[in-house]
Amino acid sequence: MSFRSDIEIARAAVKRPIREIGEKLGISEQDLLPYGHDKAKVSQSFIRSLADRPDGKLILVTAINPTPAGEGKTTTTVGLGDALNRIGKKAVVCIREASLGPNFGMKGGAAGGGMAQIVPMEEMNLHFTGDFHAITSAHNLLAAMIDNHIYWGNSLDLDERRITWRRVMDMNDRALRDTVVSLGGVSNGFPRQTGFDITVASEVMAILCLATDLHDLERRLGDIIVGYTRAKTPVTARDLKADGAMTVLLKDAMQPNLVQTLEHNPAFVHGGPFANIAHGCNSVIATRTALKLGDYVVTEAGFGADLGAEKFFNIKCRKAGLKPAAVVLVATVRALKMNGGVARADLGLENVAAVQAGSANLGRHIENLRSFGVPVVVAINHFHSDTEAEIAAVQACAAGLGVEAILCRHWAEGGAGAEALAQRVAALADSGAAQFAPLYGDDLSLWDKINTVAKRIYRAGEVTADKSVMAQLKVWEEAGYGHLPVCMAKTQYSFSTDPDLRGAPEGHTVPVREVRLSAGAGFIVAICGEIMTMPGLPRVPAAENIRLNEDGQVEGLF
Ligand code: ADP
Ligand code: MG
Repeated sequence: MSFRSDIEIARAAVKRPIREIGEKLGISEQDLLPYGHDKAKVSQSFIRSLADRPDGKLILVTAINPTPAGEGKTTTTVGLGDALNRIGKKAVVCIREASLGPNFGMKGGAAGGGMAQIVPMEEMNLHFTGDFHAITSAHNLLAAMIDNHIYWGNSLDLDERRITWRRVMDMNDRALRDTVVSLGGVSNGFPRQTGFDITVASEVMAILCLATDLHDLERRLGDIIVGYTRAKTPVTARDLKADGAMTVLLKDAMQPNLVQTLEHNPAFVHGGPFANIAHGCNSVIATRTALKLGDYVVTEAGFGADLGAEKFFNIKCRKAGLKPAAVVLVATVRALKMNGGVARADLGLENVAAVQAGSANLGRHIENLRSFGVPVVVAINHFHSDTEAEIAAVQACAAGLGVEAILCRHWAEGGAGAEALAQRVAALADSGAAQFAPLYGDDLSLWDKINTVAKRIYRAGEVTADKSVMAQLKVWEEAGYGHLPVCMAKTQYSFSTDPDLRGAPEGHTVPVREVRLSAGAGFIVAICGEIMTMPGLPRVPAAENIRLNEDGQVEGLF
């Protein structure tokens, strides 16, 4: 069988003018700020005018522990959005923007796949409407103001050894992980060691995605802790008087971007925080706007459900007061086989026993998702190598847990291939069965919050940390940060901190190596395992195959 590549399908799409997509949602021309013919931002005044409208139903798309290629969460989010529209529902898709790092590296684009994509795919995966540029600029303005403050006398008494604010750029570039700045003599400042993170790992990105409006954005930017004085008191962006200018740089980036699916349905693509040291979901402002405009909003959280859904519920929904109505758990036969112990090279061969063994992973995620009080349906994202016996094995496992597992062919067929899923999701969301509650209360201690996630979601037997980590948590509690939720950073490939421990492990130890305070974003990051905030490129980066063809079209994005 031969398939057209994602970019070939996207390029062949006949797009409607973005004005028409806005009309579908009742956004008038003066409230749409067009970026070309097929992208637009939505005005802040229009968003403010929606405040009193009722909300539609929020549907989260998450997944089992994946293979490195991704299991199709974005593809399923888009396919389900199209399918809901096909069955006569007014549905809006909300996903994240793409980072250049994975595009030129290994993972590829973020616009979905096959017949379930967002267009314009090339632009969405490249510069899009410039939001990441704005975030990079705002972040680096603060960095420049820190070194400038020290240069001109350091009246805040910042300890150069305790500056935690690094610089960012939207590229996988391992050479920049650790750097020394201000070399070259007196007129260049005071040399100090620092480094770069990728833009999506910036706290400014997390802030933009959690802020409810421009005022909230400015307050959160002001709360950012950039480092500490010699007496170890925190120094904030507000102390450096950077918050106002940063907000100015982010003014347009705060407005959600409207684009369309291949089937001309509305999609908001906005924000893109890392799913490890940040919460991994699209912006609160886009999700809330979509909820005011659509009857159903389908959105995605990064990584498997142990990380993505947990943070979506415990951080995004808690902070934004969102109440999800249903969850779609994406499973693929190949990821179940991998969880059942099959090597990557053999995932294409039928192996029903491995699917059954790997289904333990599916079952564990179903149990976990239910513990948040939200009803679950499994979407089997169909790959052409799947066999009937393998699919039947997944359905039997889900049925044993009282959950329906619906075979979906949206990748091959678009929305038509996910109608059965759409019917089920709409029924679940409309049933009012959801009684969403976060897993822990705000008043639990920070250590107990970490323990709650590790034991109830990861099923760890024990959580360990050095004395210094425990002492740091106490200091933050005394400084008034104890009410914050925790943002767990661990591997996406396992419930444990060992990426090779597949399936549904229990009783393992979760070591908390380091904790970080993101005071502006409003969470404490608990780092369990090696976490890379500046990825590197692989031996053969995708960039080697990306070029313009004779007709000036982009080739090689995927
Ligand atoms: P995730 O959001 O879970 O990371 P994506 O939806 O981005 O995953 O999909 C990852 C890649 O897999 C994309 O390139 C997409 O085209 C491809 N893909 C997704 N579903 C299928 C499918 N059913 N058959 C073949 N390829 C698929
Ligand atoms: Mg995705």
